[in-house]
Amino acid sequence: MGLEDLPEDWDLIVIGGGITGAGVLLEAGRMGLRVLLLERNDFAWGTSSRSTKLIHGGFRYLKEGKVGLTWISVEERERLLREAPGLVERLGFLLPVYQDRGLGKWTLGTGFALYDLIARKWDHRFYDPEAFCTLSPHISRDRLVGGFRFFDAQVDDARLVLRLIAEARAFGSQVQALNYVTVHQITRDASGKVSGIPATDTETSVERVFKTRAIINATGAWAEAIHPSPDRNCRLRPLRGSHLVFPLWVLPTCHALSFFHPADGRPIAAIPWEGSLLVGTTDIDHEGDLVSEPGITPAEVSYLMEGLHDAFPYLSISLKDCLSSFAGIRPVLRHGESDPSRESREHVVWVHKGLVTVTGGKLTTFRRLALVTLKAARPFLPSGMTRPWKGPLFRPIVPDGAKEKGLQAPYWRRLCGRHGSAAEEVIRRAAPEDLEPIPGTNTLWAELPFAAEHEQIRHLSDLLLRRVRIGLLAPTGGARYLDRIERLCDPVLPWDEARWKMERDAYLDLWKRSYGVPESQ
Ligand SMILES: Cc1cc2nc3c(=O)[nH]c(=O)nc-3n(C[C@H](O)[C@H](O)[C@H](O)COP(=O)(O)OP(=O)(O)OC[C@H]3O[C@@H](n4cnc5c(N)ncnc54)[C@H](O)[C@@H]3O)c2cc1C
Repeated sequence: MGLEDLPEDWDLIVIGGGITGAGVLLEAGRMGLRVLLLERNDFAWGTSSRSTKLIHGGFRYLKEGKVGLTWISVEERERLLREAPGLVERLGFLLPVYQDRGLGKWTLGTGFALYDLIARKWDHRFYDPEAFCTLSPHISRDRLVGGFRFFDAQVDDARLVLRLIAEARAFGSQVQALNYVTVHQITRDASGKVSGIPATDTETSVERVFKTRAIINATGAWAEAIHPSPDRNCRLRPLRGSHLVFPLWVLPTCHALSFFHPADGRPIAAIPWEGSLLVGTTDIDHEGDLVSEPGITPAEVSYLMEGLHDAFPYLSISLKDCLSSFAGIRPVLRHGESDPSRESREHVVWVHKGLVTVTGGKLTTFRRLALVTLKAARPFLPSGMTRPWKGPLFRPIVPDGAKEKGLQAPYWRRLCGRHGSAAEEVIRRAAPEDLEPIPGTNTLWAELPFAAEHEQIRHLSDLLLRRVRIGLLAPTGGARYLDRIERLCDPVLPWDEARWKMERDAYLDLWKRSYGVPESQ
């Protein structure tokens, strides 16, 4: 389906295909609205594929006294754990406590007790230094008082966005989502009320004008390009957060390890994810333009490496072993703090005559934010739309086809989490050798041709960086697998030899610029 195939008239148009836009699309579709989502790049191209990938209760919010926000986040975490197994999975965290840095045992213990009370399960525990070091043998023992274990959850962020979009589409043709379509402006009637938008396919330059009653501006860090903040003193402050990705053998662990950076006391984490280790994040003003893909800087690399070496002095973790990096932009409101990490992380919703701008939403609380956003848009929407749905987020998954294909249970669970009821389709036509994981990852080869055929990719980078994540997880972005990927996906993509060459070159060039590993400073 292209721009030219869509109807002209919609109840609601959502601009931006990150987690916020995808969440609104799903809930609006469920309410029976005719809703169209338009994304300028690829789905989840923005911050929603570049996060720390945690579905978390927000322990930091407690420190800021925002108990309500933690409450909502913990509730949503528990709901996602119940309803999206294979996509959102429980993750244990270890947090060492030292005599001379970070928060103390009693402060942390009170915070974790509150965290567990909200979740209604007693899930944290304090260990003395000896016991803690059996859980985390590589942690620095200098002035170690002990440490906590607690639980949160983790996700494949881009796949969560894609699963929400796929789920929304199941409501029928009145719910549509297109990538590579830019919205430059909003048209209004004589009274100033929203009436529609002109939209352009960013690659074919096909143009369409759509009519709509209401628009949701879910463009994250780019929100002010569509609608400036109503408060001149409270503009968006783009903050960059970057991560390094290592193979898990550099720090073998089944728990995520949190620690405080020696230079500024900020919390950093080393998190096992998809067979690799994510290390992050930084939190600094993003001085670059907001159009190009962000990338980690040498100074950020040094900062993260310094944190790692300080926390794990008995290991010689080397940048040479690093697989990749990625950087995302936080849409945070400027409240006059000079230290980026002290700025509030709460979302904002601005309503202006049929245009609802929503930014600053988290992965964790996307469903709640979607409901808040739709409530704000309600006066402009057709009457008679159904009330918010209280049932499960996703439709039930089809019967288990894994056994006959010999797929092991954890892989089937993972496929169901990522693809929902299409999981069976992913493996149905796969040759036995394509039901094997790509080395060093949990991704099956069979996921590639499925995504290439059914998941609206335009470029090889869409496939390798967001439909599957081997661009982050395999050495040099999976360069050594490109021949096999081409052989697997060629039958389902309309690309000739020249196009394949162009796509491969463009992908490797992009990877080097924005996902590679620069030297530290
Ligand atoms: C480093 C980092 C780590 C984080 N870690 C976590 C975490 O662990 N857990 C958590 O819950 N949250 C986390 N967050 C927060 C969370 O990732 C973001 O707040 C969230 O992804 C923002 O989603 P969004 O949909 O609002 O914005 P985005 O994902 O940025 O989506 C906005 C989209 O709008 C598109 N767009 C922009 N302009 C236009 C236009 N004119 N026309 C059409 N489309 C347009 C962009 O291309 C983009 O894809 C993290 C954030 C960062 C930066």
